[in-house]
Amino acid sequence: MQELVSNNLKQVRKRIELASAVAGRASDAVKLLAVSKTMPAQAVREAYAAGQTAFGENYIQEGVDKIASLADLPLEWHCIGPIQSNKSKLVAENFAWVHSVDRLKIAERLSAQRPAHLPPLQICLQVNVDGGQNKSGVAPQDLLALALAVAKLPHLQLRGLMTIPEPADNEAQTRAVHRQAKELLDGLNKAGLKLDTLSMGMTSDLEAAIAEGSTCVRVGTAIFGVRS
Ligand SMILES: *Cc1c(COP(=O)(O)O)cnc(C)c1O
Repeated sequence: MQELVSNNLKQVRKRIELASAVAGRASDAVKLLAVSKTMPAQAVREAYAAGQTAFGENYIQEGVDKIASLADLPLEWHCIGPIQSNKSKLVAENFAWVHSVDRLKIAERLSAQRPAHLPPLQICLQVNVDGGQNKSGVAPQDLLALALAVAKLPHLQLRGLMTIPEPADNEAQTRAVHRQAKELLDGLNKAGLKLDTLSMGMTSDLEAAIAEGSTCVRVGTAIFGVRS
């Protein structure tokens, strides 16, 4: 398993480098977030041994348990899944980043519950660019108001946007969603915010996402294998 995760990571890093080169972007312009949801803590240790330090978790309780059992390692934990109100405190206390904020109420709770001894929680707003029905995310027309409100919260630092395109039949369709996310980010910056993060691209669409300006790809399957 050790060797498998290590080889997979090498392959993914190569994909990111190649896609960045093709897009004419610097090779360090895209951060790799290893999505370890449903994977045992041991798999995270193996990825860490292969040089990976940033990890993403979807399910709050599972993530918090894993974070506790890996507290001996200097890892950076990102929450990328939906947050119910009754789980916001766990998120505020345990994670460095949250990519999945789509409501002011959750942002307010995260800010109020962020422990004073920790740095501000780094926030991306999840935006539902393509209007997928069963998906979390703020609608594009509500994004500016949410971003301006979240940017004012004291214990959060608004960094950018996250999006998950609906599965599409062709790459052009997926890329169009990535492009719209980039345009939304640019729009927020024109409105005076200072955002540097565009979290998009997973195992199947990371090249397309990088071509359209992703600064953070969230990759699970290509690193840890297929989830059961
Ligand atoms: C599971 C998940 C990923 C990783 O997906 P893969 O296709 O396994 O790379 C990325 N982002 C989010 C929000 C996820 O839930």
